[in-house]
Formats: sequence, structure tokens, C-alpha cells
Amino acid sequence: MEKEGKKLTICHLYPKLLNLYGDIGNIKALKYRAENRGIEVILKDVNVNESVPEADIYFIGGGQDRQQIDVSFELQKHKEFLLQKRDENKVFLAICGGFQLLADYFQPIKGEKLIGISLLSAYTVGGKKRFIGNVTAKTDFITPETLVGFENHSGRTYLTGETKPLSKIIVGNGNNGEDLTEGARFKNVFGTYLHGSFLPKNPHFTDYLLKLALNIDSILPLDDEIEMSAHNSLINKPY
Ligand code: GLN
Repeated sequence: MEKEGKKLTICHLYPKLLNLYGDIGNIKALKYRAENRGIEVILKDVNVNESVPEADIYFIGGGQDRQQIDVSFELQKHKEFLLQKRDENKVFLAICGGFQLLADYFQPIKGEKLIGISLLSAYTVGGKKRFIGNVTAKTDFITPETLVGFENHSGRTYLTGETKPLSKIIVGNGNNGEDLTEGARFKNVFGTYLHGSFLPKNPHFTDYLLKLALNIDSILPLDDEIEMSAHNSLINKPY
């Protein structure tokens, strides 16, 4: 169980460039759920030309291909540092365009290949048809097992090496519309195509990330009636 006086530092990477569909809500959910357990939360934004600080959780959101060009360039400067943080088992959560850039590369249909920082082994290629719609997916490591959200991407992501899917698609397209995988995990680096915001309506997954970040096995329960009613209302919602 968490101890009084614990602190949690959350680093938000490039919030001015990547923040689609209220991705900031993910930071708010982490902060809210940590503070309700008496944990002090320190938020640090990192923008272009700034250094990346030590943190317990690194978050990066989704965005348009145009913004991804600048972020791809910026991230290269911090690649070695962030690989080191991954290998120290720090928690990373990356949504959509951010997910693509924490992996090996994104090759859009038009334009240059955007190089990622390979925290995850995966690559993405642009597809002609965008995947836009509700998603329900199933994990094998949290209760309830479901994750819900909304996807909107042209990129098709294929996992390679030791990177595993985060969940299995029940409704929606997920990583590539072919292999029923959604998102990715390697060590404590998590990528997903789920916007929404994602964490506010998946409170069980939010707590899973908090436990990893705080290195604790259990966390005080909260009253999740509203969060779970949002979650349940989206389970199996048609695409
Ligand atoms: N530009 C990327 C794609 O369409 C990412 C989109 C997003 O972050 N929503 O695949």
C-alpha cells in the first residue's frame, strides 16, 4: 500500500505539439487518482529545445503528421536518456502519434519517414483509409479486462521483436486492422491508439500505471462509480 509523503513526477512531452482529443485528460486522471491517495504530484512539461527531466511517468499524446515531424526531430536529442529511463523501468504512456514515435519509425503515405526513438520495437506505415471509431479491447493483466477508447489514425503499426500487444481487439481496428492487436508494451513502456481521453474512462488501467510508477503492489480503492459507468457505457459500442 502507498505510504504518506510519497511523490510522483509526471513529465508531459511536447504538450503544445501533441495533444489531440483531450489527451491532457490522461495527465489529469493520473494526477487526480494519485492525489486522492495522498501522493504529491509534480508535473513537468517539456517543449521544443528543453531538456527532459527525471520523472516517474513520461506521457506523450497524439497529433497530426505535421506536428510529428518536429517531435520526431526533438526526440532524437533525448533518445539515449529516454532509453536509459525505459531500462530503469520508468513508466511511459504514448498515445497514437506519440506511440508511433516511441517506436522505430512512421512512414506516412506522402512525405519523409519519421524516425522514432525505439523504446518499443514496432514500425508504422500510412494506410489509405483512416481508422476512425470506437474501440473495445481485452487485456490479460487487469480487472476488468476491457479497455475502451476512440481511434483516429491512418498509420498501421506492426509489432516486432519482444514488444507485445497491450490488448486484443474486440471492436475496432487497433494497430493495423489485420492482426487484432491494439497498442504495445515493452518493459513499462505502453503505446496505444486509444484517445478519449483514454485514462479517465479506464481507471483500472490508470491505477495499474500508478502502481508500476510507485513500485507498490496495491493502492487504496477510490469511488469509481462515474468512471466505471463511462467505461461500461462504451464496452462493445459499435464502430
Ligand atoms: N498521424 C498519425 C496517423 O494518422 C497519428 C494520428 C493521431 O495521433 N491521432 O496515423
